[in-house]
Amino acid sequence: MPRIFRSQTRVRIPTHLSVTEATLLDKSTAIPPGKIIFEEALSGRTVSYGEFTALVKSGAAWLRQALALKPGQVVSVISSSCIDYIISVHSIWWAGGVVSLINDSLSPTEIAYGIQLVKPDYIVVGSSASSKLVKSLSLSSPASSAIKIIGLGEPHPQWPSWPKPAVGQGEFPEIEAHSFASGDNRQVPAAIILSSGTTGHPKAVVLSHYNLIAVNYQLRADNPDNWRSDMREVFFPPLSHVYALYVAITGAPWLGYYVCLMPRFELETYCRLLSERKATLARLVPPVAKMLAESPVTRRYTYPALEYFTCSAAPISEKTAGDLRTVFPGVKLCQTYGCTESSGACVQSGTREKDMPLNATGKLITNADIRFIDSTGNDVSNGAPGEITLRGPHIMMGYLADPKATREHMLDGGWYKTGDIGYLDAQGFLFVSGRIKDIIKSNGFQVSPLELEEILVRHPLVKEAAVHGVWSERNATDLLRAYIVSEKPLAKAGRDTEEAARSVTEFVASQVAGYKQLKGGVVFVDSLPKSPTGKLLRRLLKDIDDTGSIPL
Ligand code: AMP
Repeated sequence: MPRIFRSQTRVRIPTHLSVTEATLLDKSTAIPPGKIIFEEALSGRTVSYGEFTALVKSGAAWLRQALALKPGQVVSVISSSCIDYIISVHSIWWAGGVVSLINDSLSPTEIAYGIQLVKPDYIVVGSSASSKLVKSLSLSSPASSAIKIIGLGEPHPQWPSWPKPAVGQGEFPEIEAHSFASGDNRQVPAAIILSSGTTGHPKAVVLSHYNLIAVNYQLRADNPDNWRSDMREVFFPPLSHVYALYVAITGAPWLGYYVCLMPRFELETYCRLLSERKATLARLVPPVAKMLAESPVTRRYTYPALEYFTCSAAPISEKTAGDLRTVFPGVKLCQTYGCTESSGACVQSGTREKDMPLNATGKLITNADIRFIDSTGNDVSNGAPGEITLRGPHIMMGYLADPKATREHMLDGGWYKTGDIGYLDAQGFLFVSGRIKDIIKSNGFQVSPLELEEILVRHPLVKEAAVHGVWSERNATDLLRAYIVSEKPLAKAGRDTEEAARSVTEFVASQVAGYKQLKGGVVFVDSLPKSPTGKLLRRLLKDIDDTGSIPL
């Protein structure tokens, strides 16, 4: 019998709405139309709640009438964070489309991979990513030439531009939201997000309208203090990450709270904005938490409104958690654990939580179930560490066009195997104690080692390659290190090796996003650890020291 732990509370989640209808129509209290809900940190542009809803509906009309978007068609969005990004996502949903979010910091080759996987009908591209997209399309299959491109931001000579506010309000009158013929949002895809799963190449996670509505209900039910309309925040993670889906994209317009959008993280600007915009909360990832706790820059400002931090995406060390408490006395530290496949969240600690150990991640969110299994799929005994396995209304529909990967990750009964190891204590706090999956988390982003290994073996000096994460206390994240068997013998140390390492590092850097670069170095080895059947034993890579020998 499975040993299932269930959240204590249950709520009813609507099955007849799209996520945009839920965001804009499902309110317990009305949001004043003039209330500013978004601001762009760099341009200073703001949008009120009333303007936002009007622009979403007229944007949807423009997509349907001027661009002939049909319900069910897929629209990829590739842009840095801006207000029009969020408006375009809701317009696509309001018109009945499916949104695919692709990180604009990816290289042209990586974007081309995403396009080939998702096969969008349209792409909405921000000005900063447009030249990359042109390169990506030249690398993609001929079929990609049929994709219709829409420019966001600066007008582009070849592509229609997303309507500017004045046009949005006049030329294309608002339309009614697309309603589901079947009346069941559990079967209708809303968002496609790239994720590595637990192994192999990046995959496309499909989340339904129900999943995205559910996660909002689930997060708020037990922790209403963490989800209020008077919250104010400065948000720096890319809008393409699942985190943004329930925070800036749906959470903010749903509850009507204020979000200042930062297109990229920079500590001084972040601290200044937290102070000047009177942020009530700050959502962190461990490397940012460490910077805030340790950098003198933090102390140049005061944070009069700050009530709580919430840290997610990777484990925060007890030291950083303790340091944050010292530097920000009175500001509570909450945590979240989850993954793209669980619509971003599964476990959360709220500001009301008392006595949570510093290294715990929180308690199961409403309507969620959790099990801990061993390598044979059996449940481990109570309190023992096992693979964290999740069930609930927030668990993905599956991987796009990949039934094999979906079967490998999902157990009968709707259980998703996360590839993380953890356990619950007697109070119901979840501790994440390790990872059995291959993916590496670098600065809060997933990296598939296989993807980098395939790039590495294209370098003329590389015969075999394996990539692993090495923990950096200074950066509070894993850094990526390549272990390489070279084509020709190299001295263990010396100029030859240094030059080879530099050449390999630059080769990878020219083809991948910044967070996938080999910042943990390159180590040349005589052989890679393998099983008798020749399978790479990644977990043994961490035992190889910097000189390339495996300790006995
Ligand atoms: P992503 O799909 O990019 O959100 O990455 C999900 C993975 O990040 C999880 O499966 C974990 O390995 C890791 N992760 C997320 N939150 C935490 C946390 N609070 N503590 C430890 N690991 C985490």
